[in-house]
Amino acid sequence: MTTIINGKKVSQKIREELKEECEEIKKQGIIPKLAVIMVGDNPASKVYVRNKNKACQEIGIEYEEYFLKSEITQEKLIELIEDLNNRKDINGILLQSPIPNHLDINEAFRKISPEKDVDGFHPANVGKLILNQDTFVSCTPYGIMKLFAEYNIDLNGKHVVILGRSNIVGKPLIACCLNRNATVTVCHSKTENLEEHTKKADILIVAIGKANFVKKEMIKDGAVIIDVGINRTDEGKLTGDVDFENVKDVAGYITPVPGGVGPMTIAMLMNNVIKAARLQNKNN
Ligand code: NDP
Repeated sequence: MTTIINGKKVSQKIREELKEECEEIKKQGIIPKLAVIMVGDNPASKVYVRNKNKACQEIGIEYEEYFLKSEITQEKLIELIEDLNNRKDINGILLQSPIPNHLDINEAFRKISPEKDVDGFHPANVGKLILNQDTFVSCTPYGIMKLFAEYNIDLNGKHVVILGRSNIVGKPLIACCLNRNATVTVCHSKTENLEEHTKKADILIVAIGKANFVKKEMIKDGAVIIDVGINRTDEGKLTGDVDFENVKDVAGYITPVPGGVGPMTIAMLMNNVIKAARLQNKNN
């Protein structure tokens, strides 16, 4: 019997716990606050930003957003980041990607203070993750780890195959899985004989951005399938990177799209903002 992993339900539970935690720390005078920067008017980003605002409101996290014109210069963007770094009332800073091509996103991520880097993209935080030290873990990989914990899926000694090596999903996942004693294989667009790898996976995590790419012939019976992909079909329907309808008959566990990994990403962002607020107020 296949278990459909319910990310929506798990994320709601986490959000309720965070709401209580937020009320608790407010009693100690800690008011968590997130600043979100968006450059240009990418429609998908607008939806993501709106959802982040909603989640903050629900949990009790204060929220500020900066919508910058797409023509903004790198200097002005960095100036804003530095202002936010210097503000005591802001605990977390998030730069929504993508940003226009004339801007250097890596420099911008580097300028966000590591203590306020709630997305976990700063090289210092990525380094700590690789060294298995406490840090801000990038939200999607962190959300996936929470799903494993919630469904008692133990990574110890398991063969995890990751499709995709992006800085925000695939690469941090390597460290997250390795830190839990998995044996990790990473595949990407240049990988030869992909199916030979995917078929060996006890746990297959797919983050490539190609609708219904993973077919049931590509997986081992009973494997855990985590689908990170968010794609829109011509009819406007959301779909993952995994051919859910067919793969679900073979998998042991599988995440749906929507309602799997997506809601976990926002929940873990909220978690990171509260963590940042706590850490920044530790010695007060
Ligand atoms: P990127 O486009 O940054 O990276 C895609 C990765 O997939 C690359 O490493 C690329 O390889 C690899 N790839 C592409 N085609 C193939 C292929 N045919 N076989 C094997 N590997 C391939 O994507 P992201 O990591 O940012 O996002 C991936 C997906 O996850 C997207 O659909 C995105 O919308 C979604 N997403 C969902 C989130 C959520 O909260 N659920 C959060 C973030 C992303 P190469 O490096 O060689 O180019």
